[in-house]
Amino acid sequence: MIDFREKKGFICDMDGVIYHGNMLLPGVKEFLKWLVNEKKEYLFLTNNSGCTPKELNQKLLRMGLEVSEEHFYTSALATAAFLKEQAPGCSAYVIGEAGLFNALYDAGITMNDVNPDYVIVGEGKSYSLDTLTKASNLVLKGAKLIGANSDVSGPIEHGIAPACKALTAPIEMATGVQAYFCGKPNPLMMRTGLNILGCHSNEAVMVGDRMDTDVISGMESGMATVLVLSGVTSLKSIEKYAYRPSLILNGVGEIVTYHSKQNKLKEVV
Ligand SMILES: [Mg+2]
Repeated sequence: MIDFREKKGFICDMDGVIYHGNMLLPGVKEFLKWLVNEKKEYLFLTNNSGCTPKELNQKLLRMGLEVSEEHFYTSALATAAFLKEQAPGCSAYVIGEAGLFNALYDAGITMNDVNPDYVIVGEGKSYSLDTLTKASNLVLKGAKLIGANSDVSGPIEHGIAPACKALTAPIEMATGVQAYFCGKPNPLMMRTGLNILGCHSNEAVMVGDRMDTDVISGMESGMATVLVLSGVTSLKSIEKYAYRPSLILNGVGEIVTYHSKQNKLKEVV
């Protein structure tokens, strides 16, 4: 059992937890209000590298939710933090969107399409046979290959779209070089998230809708984990995994009522 009152920090996945496409999920407004009222530290985290924190702030505003920029953490920011630590001042050839470019620039990484230290792939509309060809040849010349996250696909309105790992695969196949992926389920992303929150792992909870990214990376980083059934995972499908979440809830709204239920129980006792 998790006593949410004891927990200082919350890292929450977004897609399937906060929203589905452009629709806010039930109980999210109450959950955010609870986080603020209880003075919790929190981060909304997404593996998608395309959006900047400002764009995510605006996306949630359109859904009626006010979350300031410093509460967002993306795989683009995790990738930038990783490279800043590993190779300060390095250069990169990047296939991706504003979220990835901005994060890299902010970390002091420069763009280079001649002899970069890294080739970095994220989701984005600049992806084409031309950029793939360029990237493959730069990797063959010695650039290290990085993927912002290892999602193979992501939900769109009428189906799925290939995501970062699927987009990186052609470069891996063409060059025989395996990419290193920075986003979930790499526990690196959770650890840097915890650093941003100023929390030790045992003071924090990871909330997500996927066993193979959210729950595993939270668990491997030493955090309590909450699986919500508001996204892609059904109760039945949990059985096939060797690991379990600390708690299963229908949605984040139940974190708020779970909390008050516990209070009530205490009063009764
Ligand atoms: Mg999700």
